[in-house]
Amino acid sequence: MTPEDQIDLLMESLTELELPDNEARAGWNIQAHEVMAAKRKLGIRLNISIRFTSGRNTHGTHSVRKAYNEDRYYHRITLSQNKNADSASETLWHEMAHAMQSEAWARASGKPPTKFYRLAYMNPAAKGAWGETYHMNKFEQHARDVANKNYKTKLVR
Ligand SMILES: [Zn+2]
Repeated sequence: MTPEDQIDLLMESLTELELPDNEARAGWNIQAHEVMAAKRKLGIRLNISIRFTSGRNTHGTHSVRKAYNEDRYYHRITLSQNKNADSASETLWHEMAHAMQSEAWARASGKPPTKFYRLAYMNPAAKGAWGETYHMNKFEQHARDVANKNYKTKLVR
């Protein structure tokens, strides 16, 4: 890892909300004020770093990371910059719901939030009635509910 990479990783973990510098290729921008309000509404305490991807198949991802050389965690959300604004806003709500879930699970379990996907999301108890993996997963259902309930609040424009 180069010194520049180390600084980059440190900065993304120190900023409460780190956003891309550039406009998305599809012509919208992430609205920092609205995302901060959403963060508070969902009770997300850890910092959030959002990066663009060029994915055409993947809308977005969420993961929990441990800050470089530090004993704390932050959320990394990726968002495809090729989707239209309404779709990107919905995806951002969805991924922030996963951020909320991982923190709530960490508080309730006393385990680090980085273990959320392995221990809670992938747990058979989360998979839903027919043993399906993705669509019926209770965390996915909840994330879709959060996105649907908040669709009028646009996080990107
Ligand atoms: Zn999801």
